[in-house]
Parts: sequence; structure tokens; C-alpha cells
Amino acid sequence: MKIEIIKCLKDNYAYLIIDEIKRNACVVDPSEAKPIINYIEKNKINLKYILNTHHHYDHVGGNVELKKKYACNVIGFIEDKDRIPEIDILLKDNQIWKEDNFEAKIYHIPGHTTGHIAYHFFKEKKIFTGDTLFSLGCGKIFEGTYEQMFNSINKIKELPEETEIYCGHEYTLQNSNFCLANDSENLKLKEKIVKIKKKIKNDLPTIPTILKDEIECNIFLKAKDLISFSKLRDLKDNF
Ligand code: ZN
Ligand code: FE
Repeated sequence: MKIEIIKCLKDNYAYLIIDEIKRNACVVDPSEAKPIINYIEKNKINLKYILNTHHHYDHVGGNVELKKKYACNVIGFIEDKDRIPEIDILLKDNQIWKEDNFEAKIYHIPGHTTGHIAYHFFKEKKIFTGDTLFSLGCGKIFEGTYEQMFNSINKIKELPEETEIYCGHEYTLQNSNFCLANDSENLKLKEKIVKIKKKIKNDLPTIPTILKDEIECNIFLKAKDLISFSKLRDLKDNF
């Protein structure tokens, strides 16, 4: 299983999950159709599934056009069935979604939105976290509560530490400034920032990040309790 990172819009990432034997693919959060179509046509793969983490436009913007062109199935959380365009397959918390050679566990991780989910390809140790957990940050709380977001990121924190995290946006550099301002003695963080800057300079994605790095460097995952997490989230909103 190969992951192809597709840049969309200003700073979004869509991800193609490709089964290289059958040449079938899923796309996670296609913000727009065009960059996805370009890759699919060039590499001659079959797009079979669209996996949405949540209903925001910059994550589902390509659904209609891609489904029309490839007759793929759109997959998302059951409670978002009225706001994910063209949804076909309705998922529940903790369910295993399995089709073809793709197999992922679904986690309901509310906070950014009430219906946000993550797709955990546990065999491959990769998780698609949308706008909930970013590299060195976490999503803004739009619909949920601080407590929901705190619990959601802590659910991800419990996965094996070598898990690769694929998030919805390239926010890593801005996020690193906030982490550093609040955790200035963290040597691991400083080392990670050097690597991040090098990637950005070479126009490369800083994603995926490894859960181990995030546990050591992401200030939101380091928050000991709900009060300190909530304080950090407020500070970040005004940073
Ligand atoms: Zn969002
Ligand atoms: Fe987003």
C-alpha cells in the first residue's frame, strides 16, 4: 500500500491510498477534484473510494466531480450523512471498514466538528486525522467542546508510537512557533523544527509525522489535563 500526497487549494493535503497490485485507490479528503484526476489519469489507477474525515468544504470539495467521473463510493460518518456530499457508505465509531485490500478502523474524534472521524489503517500503522490532530498542533474547536477535542487527541495518542500521522493541512511551521513559545527548553522540538524547515525550504511536505515525535513535541498532546489543554487552545487561537 502506497500513499501519495496530493497538494490541494492553499495548504490542504489529500491522500491517495494505492493498492499497487490491483491498482485500486482510495482518496482521503479530496478538497478539489482536478489534482486528484491528474494523478489518476497519469498513473492509470482506479479510484474506488472517497474517505471523508469531516464535512468542511476544503475536505469534501471534490466529492461530486470525482464520483461522477469514476463512480466511486463516498464514505463518511453516519451522523454527517446530511452534510457530506454524495455519501454512500455510513460509518460508526470503532467499526472496521474493509473493502478490497483496504482495511481501517474508524474512530469518532469530535471537537473540530461534531462528526469528525479518523481512519486508522492499523496493519500499515497509518492514521488519517483530518483537522483533529496536526503535526505540532490540533484543530480549532468549531462545533464540539474542549473536552471532546482533548479526548479525541488523547485517543490518537494511545496508538502505537511508530504510527504515521497524515493530517489535513500543511500547518506544521506555524504550529512549531507556538510549541516553541510555550516549550522553549524542548530539545526534541528544536531538532524537529530543523528538519521541518529543511523540508519546507525544499518544497516538500512535512507530513507524515510520527506519533512518537508528536508525543514528545506537540504541546497539545503534552497537556496533562483538560484545564491546561483548554488554556493552550485559547492561547493558540490568539497567537
Ligand atoms: Zn475542517
Ligand atoms: Fe480543513
